[in-house]
Amino acid sequence: MRKIKGVLGVFVALIWTISLSACIHLPTITESQGDSSNGALDSSNDSSDLSNQPSDIVTEELSIHFLELGTKSTGDCTLIKIGDTEVLIDAGAIKSSAGTIVPYIQEYCADGILEYVIATHAHEDHIAAFVGTSKIDGVFESFVCETIIDYPQSESTSKIRQEYETLRDAEVAAGAKHYTALQCWNNENGAKRSYLLADGISMNILYQKFYEEDASNENEYSVCVLISQGENHYLFTGDLETEGEESLVAENELPKCVLFKAGHHGSNTSSSSALLAEIQPDIVCVCCCCGSDEYTDDVANMFPSQDFVNRVAPYTDKIYVTTLVAAESTKKYQSMNGNIVVSSTGGEVSVACSNNDLTFKETAWFQANRVMPEEWK
Ligand SMILES: [Zn+2]
Repeated sequence: MRKIKGVLGVFVALIWTISLSACIHLPTITESQGDSSNGALDSSNDSSDLSNQPSDIVTEELSIHFLELGTKSTGDCTLIKIGDTEVLIDAGAIKSSAGTIVPYIQEYCADGILEYVIATHAHEDHIAAFVGTSKIDGVFESFVCETIIDYPQSESTSKIRQEYETLRDAEVAAGAKHYTALQCWNNENGAKRSYLLADGISMNILYQKFYEEDASNENEYSVCVLISQGENHYLFTGDLETEGEESLVAENELPKCVLFKAGHHGSNTSSSSALLAEIQPDIVCVCCCCGSDEYTDDVANMFPSQDFVNRVAPYTDKIYVTTLVAAESTKKYQSMNGNIVVSSTGGEVSVACSNNDLTFKETAWFQANRVMPEEWK
C-alpha cells in the first residue's frame, strides 16, 4: 500500500508543480465566491489539464480542525482528516492540553493511527501535548504515528524539547518514520516533498531558508506545509515570522490560498503583507487565547494583533479565533469560535465552529479592543 501511495505521490507532485503557475491565474470557488459563474475561465487559457473545470472538482472530503486546547495558554493544534488518513500539525499549548486534544482526535481517528505528524518548531506551545503528563497520556503515547516530520533546526535548550525528541525517537524505534522538513524538500532518505493523502489531495512540504540558516528566533525554524485539494489550497506556516515569510514567498510559487492558518497566532510579527499579497486568503484561522496578557500587556499587540487585522483586511473579513480570555479573570478562558472546522470536497469551502460562527469583527472583544479597518466598514 505504501509503495502504491509513493508512486501516486510522485505523480501528484509532478501535476501539482506543473499546475501551480496555472492555478495562480484561475479563480477558486470559495465560500466568498460561491457563485459558480465565478469559476468561469479565461477562454485564452487553452491548457487541457483538469484545472479548466474547477467547479467540477470533487475529491474525498477534507476537514481541517483548529482545536481549542483546554487552557488559557496560546498554542497550536491542527487535525486534518481525509477519509481514514489523518495529519496532525502541532500539539500545544501545555502538557495537560493532551487531556483535551487526545479525546478530540480519538473521535475522528477510529483506527488509532495518525498517518502524518508534523511538529513545526520546538516551542512548548507546539509540542507539549505530544508529551503529556504523568497522569495524562500525550499524543505519542495515545496514537500510532506513522510518519513524523519536524524542524530541521532548533536552538532550544528546553526540557520540553528534550522530552519531545525522546518520545519521538521512541516512536521511531517502534517503527515510525522520521524526517526533517529539509529532508522532505530534498527527497532524501525516503522523505518526500509531496505526499498523496487521497485521490486529488496532496500535502506539500514547502522550502524556507531557515531550514538551513541560523535564525535569531526559534519561530523562524517553523516547518511550512501546503495542502492542495484540486483548486483549493490551505497554508500552514507555524510561527514563521516576517523574514522567514519573505523567504517562503521567494522560494516557492505559492498559489492563492482558500485558507491560511494565521502566522504565529496572529502576532504583529507574522502574516506579513508580502505573504498575504501572494496567497490572498479567503479564510484565516487564528489559534490563540484572544486578549490574553501571556505575552504582552499592550492590548494592540495581544493576539490577534491590530497590525495583523489591518494587513488581512484587504483580502477577507473571514477571520476565526479559537479561544478567548475570560472576562472575569485573565487566569481563565472561554471559547471564542471554539473548535474551528473548515471543510470541502474540492469546490466550496465551509466553516463550522463548536461555539459560534461569528467572524472576529462581529465579536464583542473585537468591538471593544480593535479598530475596524476601512475595508470592513
Ligand atoms: Zn506558537
